[in-house]
Amino acid sequence: MATLKILTAGDPFLRKIATPVERIDKKITRLIKDMQETMYEADGVGLAAPQIGVSKRLVVIDVGEENGGSYVLINPEILKKEGSVVSGEGCLSVPDFEGDVERAEYVECEFTDEKGRRMLLQAHGLLAICVQHECDHLDGILFVDKAQTLTRKEQKEDDMEKFAKKQNKKRGRK
Ligand SMILES: [Zn+2]
Repeated sequence: MATLKILTAGDPFLRKIATPVERIDKKITRLIKDMQETMYEADGVGLAAPQIGVSKRLVVIDVGEENGGSYVLINPEILKKEGSVVSGEGCLSVPDFEGDVERAEYVECEFTDEKGRRMLLQAHGLLAICVQHECDHLDGILFVDKAQTLTRKEQKEDDMEKFAKKQNKKRGRK
């Protein structure tokens, strides 16, 4: 397994429309594992293949057990949307900003799982938002395109700590 480099906004690759996965072979299986590792490493709840420079309709999601669990969505298609909810979103490809986005509160999403079976996911809340956010990536859409507000993230404390450590290293301290 390996962690992959996540492309950030401004990279034209993120604006491409991804092509369907035709066959679930070893290459795709390995890609899924690497995407999951990359997502966990970056503390994300979802990652779409275009974000790591692969133009395929493939998404990994893990919103945590209490919010609906983890999914691998191959060639996902949102068939139904209901309700609406505005919530704060961020994106691993837009690391410096967060913003409020209006999404459907409920979605039904058809997808192929890792074993090649066509499945139906019925999702509410955070999982539904995450499915919509990640499916947008497959069509070259970023949350900033839809955001009603956009604010620069405050530097988190652990980022500051990392920064301080780096500075100390530069000065030859531990
Ligand atoms: Zn994103």
